[in-house]
Amino acid sequence: MSAGSRWWSRGVRFSCVGCGRCCRGEPGAIFFTREEGARVREFLSVDEDAFRRRFVTLRWGRPSFIERSNGDCIFYRADEARCAVYPVRPAQCRLFPFWAEVMRSEDSWNAHARHCPGMNGGRLYSAPEIEALLREERGQEG
Ligand code: SF4
Repeated sequence: MSAGSRWWSRGVRFSCVGCGRCCRGEPGAIFFTREEGARVREFLSVDEDAFRRRFVTLRWGRPSFIERSNGDCIFYRADEARCAVYPVRPAQCRLFPFWAEVMRSEDSWNAHARHCPGMNGGRLYSAPEIEALLREERGQEG
């Protein structure tokens, strides 16, 4: 990210309100690392074969959690409006909205904020905190 794109140098506000909107809707990918997959599998107490068959697909050549036909993540529990694997959710979910794609411009941030009621309110994240989160997100690419 170039210095000129650090529009967030004074920090941004975000506190998740647990609405689950980012787990639903538009089709995408829910990437996870091998270690994250193992943690989810252990959390669910399913063996490797069942885990892959029931919950995993490939998106752009990488393992991703399956989405239902309506775009909801397979782990989103609509009846309870929550993630069924929340304690072991992958970094992609945990790091939102501190993704390079979201943080690349203020316009991008505000476009996402129209769908996420947790953005632009709540806890102030400082620039060093944002940098650390973006570094962690980059470490997830693979
Ligand atoms: S859309 Fe935003 S506020 Fe709602 S669950 Fe996702 S991160 Fe939290």
